[in-house]
Amino acid sequence: MLMVSGSDEHGTPIEVEAIKQGITPKELTDRNHARVAELFRKWDASFDNYTRTESPVHKAFVQETLMKIYANGYIFSQDTQMLYCEYDHRFLPDRFVEGKCPYCGCEHARGDQCDRCGRLLETTSLMEPYCVICKNPPTVKTTRHWYIDLSRLADRLSEYIKANQQLQANAKNFSLNWIKEGLKPRAVTRDVEWGLPAPFPGAEGKTIYVWVDAVLGYVSATIEACTQKGVPEKWREYWFNKQAKTLYFVGKDNIPFHTIILPALLLASGEDYNLPWNVSATEFLQFKGEKASKSKRIGIWIDEALELFPLDYWRFFLIVTRPESKDTNFSWDFFLEKINADLNDTYGNFIHRTLSFINSKFNSEIPKPGELTHEDERVLQTIKEKTETIAKQIEESSLQSAANTLVSLSRVGNQYLNENEPWNLMKTDPAKAASIFYVCAQIVKALAVTSSPFVPSTAEQLWHTLNIKGIAGNCLWQEAINSLAAGHRINKSKPLFNKIDADEKELEEMLTQVRAKMSQPVKHADQQ
Ligand SMILES: [Zn+2]
Ligand SMILES: [Zn+2]
Repeated sequence: MLMVSGSDEHGTPIEVEAIKQGITPKELTDRNHARVAELFRKWDASFDNYTRTESPVHKAFVQETLMKIYANGYIFSQDTQMLYCEYDHRFLPDRFVEGKCPYCGCEHARGDQCDRCGRLLETTSLMEPYCVICKNPPTVKTTRHWYIDLSRLADRLSEYIKANQQLQANAKNFSLNWIKEGLKPRAVTRDVEWGLPAPFPGAEGKTIYVWVDAVLGYVSATIEACTQKGVPEKWREYWFNKQAKTLYFVGKDNIPFHTIILPALLLASGEDYNLPWNVSATEFLQFKGEKASKSKRIGIWIDEALELFPLDYWRFFLIVTRPESKDTNFSWDFFLEKINADLNDTYGNFIHRTLSFINSKFNSEIPKPGELTHEDERVLQTIKEKTETIAKQIEESSLQSAANTLVSLSRVGNQYLNENEPWNLMKTDPAKAASIFYVCAQIVKALAVTSSPFVPSTAEQLWHTLNIKGIAGNCLWQEAINSLAAGHRINKSKPLFNKIDADEKELEEMLTQVRAKMSQPVKHADQQ
């Protein structure tokens, strides 16, 4: 398995932002890439390679692939009319222009895509367009561009999407509708300086459209990762071996680039690439009923989040509310409910109750069970079933359901403890009490393994308390149901979480304080 991603550094949003900040796009993306890579590390996102589209490996791969597509006859050039700003003396591709969406009438549709209806747009189709730098209406000017002829790939794309069993309904329907409306040739070049130079004969001075550049990054990041690991040819296993599967995690606004544009490029290259096996596209996570917005300061930023609560609280919350079938909504009440009731009271307390009792009453050794009852056997069977269910749900990208199954396994443990009250059996029926704690220890072991994708640091802490060699996140899934042997010694248990004892008003105040602290200038070593 290999997990790759990277900073998408080209494209007009970067150039527009750099103009606003009065710096070069390269300065902006150098800064952003370092910052984003650092935040991924802080959030325990374990990429084999988190790279950038400015990487030389990526640049060479994109240019080489586009030349294959060109040689295969899928790319042609023609003169076209493009929007041009007479004040800024530049063409206005993609995000350099906004206007009214010709499909849904949204007032501030961007030149390349409408945020409201999700359709990909051509700038010249916008109604009432204006330049995002000077806000003036543009004129139209003739220029030459290079196009990929998507219409010639429509049948193969449609066949691929229809045959794909994994694609969720949202991704499937959106893509098939788009093909049905008729795929048109799409420009792969732009009249902007910031981007990968277009490799086609006669295209000097043009750069590659960012979404063509970016999606090919999945392949180039694999090549780079395998080269770094010292197995430079192994990338082919991931992309050409028909047993291999590629899985993509995207927001719903990025569906067409992964189900149409990327497959189209891979098909047109004539190289027999594996097409995307699944594109797991989420709906949106709203913030207190509103769309998150950087400019309006609506939302909690991921660096701020870590100043408020430990990482695993956020990871758990974001997975358990992942908008898989509909938009979900952040509210402090909802956050408190998930953290206090599910993570702390159910998962955390079950584990700590079990292990601290084994610490104090069984001299920190997994007790030797007496004869197991039907009920004990049933609970052991439940561990197996839930472990399998979580694995299946993760494989289907139903991460929200998987997190809930994890909580339900903890709930089974809590109920089993509450119904049997083994602490009262210690004197009257010690063999039965020992059996119950033996069974509970097996649940804890399963939770240590199955919770590692969700709350990695907590799973690691638990792994250490259970005194098992290796790393929780690196063991095989099967390890979840390998029993902890009677007599195995564990370390001293500590509570895994703290209940959050604050109301919405206090939490808002905490956030305000964090923001005030973080906005104070900090002198970094790299700042002169
Ligand atoms: Zn629209
Ligand atoms: Zn302008």
